[in-house]
Amino acid sequence: MSFLSATLSRVKPSPTVAMTAKAAELKAGGRDIIGLSAGEPDFDTPQNIKDAATAAIAAGKTKYTAPDGIIELKQAVCAKMQRDHGLSYTPAQVSVGSGGKQTLYNALMATLNPGDEVIIPAPYWVSYPDMVLLGGGTPVVVETALESAFKLTPAQLEAAITPRTKWFIFNSPSNPTGAGYSRDELKGLTDVLMRHPHVWVMSDDMYEHLAYDGFAFCTPAQVEPGLYERTLTCNGTSKAYAMTGWRIGYAAGPVGLIAAMRKIQSQSTSNPCTISQWAAVEALNGTQEFLAPNNALFKRRRDLVLSMLNAIEGIDCPTPEGAFYVYPSIAGLIGKTTPKGTRIDSDETFCTALLEEADVAVVFGAAFGLSPNFRVSYAASDAALTEACTRIQRFCASLT
Ligand code: PLP
Repeated sequence: MSFLSATLSRVKPSPTVAMTAKAAELKAGGRDIIGLSAGEPDFDTPQNIKDAATAAIAAGKTKYTAPDGIIELKQAVCAKMQRDHGLSYTPAQVSVGSGGKQTLYNALMATLNPGDEVIIPAPYWVSYPDMVLLGGGTPVVVETALESAFKLTPAQLEAAITPRTKWFIFNSPSNPTGAGYSRDELKGLTDVLMRHPHVWVMSDDMYEHLAYDGFAFCTPAQVEPGLYERTLTCNGTSKAYAMTGWRIGYAAGPVGLIAAMRKIQSQSTSNPCTISQWAAVEALNGTQEFLAPNNALFKRRRDLVLSMLNAIEGIDCPTPEGAFYVYPSIAGLIGKTTPKGTRIDSDETFCTALLEEADVAVVFGAAFGLSPNFRVSYAASDAALTEACTRIQRFCASLT
């Protein structure tokens, strides 16, 4: 009998981390690799947020806090939910964790029993299915189509719901496609959910602030107030505030669920970093002025990458509403052969050959549950993006 737990054998390590590690290894060996596989902004944390952290250190705010967050941060989350979505929460309905990842994990750990199903639209953020498996539940993956710009349709959601469905995980704008649901598109889904009162909604709003072309972000509990009592709205400071390393995420939802999440956290990691919590108070309460220029930058990069990739024969990519990813299809390249003799039979082969023969690191679509595609993160300089896309163009033109 293995020393390791049986649960562990059901879970795979993060493929995005594996791809980034492979690129780093080649780079260390002297290769000029351009990495477009990481999911984090390439700019620094805003100064006012850093200042709030150093002020917290200077003031001796360096001890344990309540397991799921200081009251000041919970109040800042309540104010943000009211300001941005018109949703009323009290601090008892808010949980703060070490990153968005931990709050999602806590919620699944706190609620899943064997046999419970969790609906996850594909392509999905890599951690959802594995977190469901760690919690003993069953991921029910529903593939979306390029033709619907990778958005789940109400009919698909309806068909996936069974008496065992516990959660529906919703992520807009999405990692890995950048797809953002309009109010009408989301209403189509919430109408279905209203017909199935046993299904809870986990909305992962991590990319809320990264939206382009006037896209108006909305979240399920806002679009359908009837879902308020069974919705956990999750968010964090990592992406919009360039705070990936600070590890602060939060969630707002029903008091009973929040208390259950607190129990898990109090017996695992305890409170998120105290200093980061004070920085997050400033992130949420302080100026939001840097968001607009950052978005203008990201939009320009998105358009640059899209135009260069869509110019390639065999590649097809819809224009996403947000986040900093595009998710092109390589259906038109399957069956071709690289100059070094590799036959492209999957997106994994394509991405491995692209790294080895053209020095560009991206992540293959199978990692996100929908093939044949790859994910490009455009959180990189214009120069790096132009050079990477030129290499991808050259590589694709060299396929026979
Ligand atoms: N949700 C989505 C969709 C993400 O892409 C990520 C990070 O990549 C997270 C949650 C987790 O973010 P955090 O760094 O706050 O744990």
